[in-house]
Amino acid sequence: MDVFALPAEVRERTSALRRAGSRVAFVPTMGALHAGHGSLFDVARRHADCVIASIFVNPTQFGPAEDFDRYPRPFAADAAFCAAAGVDILFCPRREDMYAPEHSILVVEGALTRGLCGPFRPGHFRGVLTVVTQLLNIVQPDVAVFGQKDAQQARLIQTLVRDLHMHTRVLVAPTWRDPDGLAMSSRNQYLSSDERRHALALSQALQLGETLYAQGVRDAAQVCARMHAVCATAGAAAVIEYVEAVDFATLRPVVELVDGTLLAVCVRIGRTRLIDNVVLGRARVAREYDLV
Ligand code: AMP
Repeated sequence: MDVFALPAEVRERTSALRRAGSRVAFVPTMGALHAGHGSLFDVARRHADCVIASIFVNPTQFGPAEDFDRYPRPFAADAAFCAAAGVDILFCPRREDMYAPEHSILVVEGALTRGLCGPFRPGHFRGVLTVVTQLLNIVQPDVAVFGQKDAQQARLIQTLVRDLHMHTRVLVAPTWRDPDGLAMSSRNQYLSSDERRHALALSQALQLGETLYAQGVRDAAQVCARMHAVCATAGAAAVIEYVEAVDFATLRPVVELVDGTLLAVCVRIGRTRLIDNVVLGRARVAREYDLV
């Protein structure tokens, strides 16, 4: 595995690969890698000859009161993880190589960011869209793989690529979970054992939503209310930010559940903000949204 820090080095290497006829797949991450990231590398491998991962804790997507400083950065373990997962090229840029002091262009979106996490994390998606634009311009991959765990982000990146006429195809890979259902996340390591137990409320709420849908319930308000009640079992230290049923295409709330409805929840447990979601009828809408 080759490790590069400079954007120019990565760009040179990937251009050469493409000229030689190789297909390039790209998986951007913020490190603190876990099996969920590993599953994205596997998807990337299935769709390309060369897999590139990046690790960059992007400062512009963290709010002033968020966890940028304490975000885990286990670089040696992450590099070993990538090598063992068969990543061919690891790109770990320094902050100053991504953001020159005079950096002044930001990528702003005005529809899909209105709901879900958007209002709770002002500026977050602007930071994400800006850095992903930079990374896609540097790597110029044929395919990029994002996790459904961050469903709003994944739909935003698909829309970014469409609206800015980038040539990358954006695949959305399923959420990897611990055996008890908790969606894997680098932030799970912030949780105490009590908080970890309470965090199961998120996946349990979503499971209930899926079960009600399978039983034929279609009223979104009724299903969200039932899911909200399950999220409320996360204990006194839990704050529910949202429990929503939205259209996966537009991320706008729906009245009636159908295949392609995204059920999404966000609960803060102590100092840790957790999100999770499911797409109803996922297999039936997979092709429409490049869900793999
Ligand atoms: P992060 O390092 O948290 O920025 O995540 C990097 C990529 O991994 C994003 O596309 C995430 O959606 C994805 N990801 C994070 N957690 C999971 C998970 N549990 N299962 C699948 N993909 C994930």
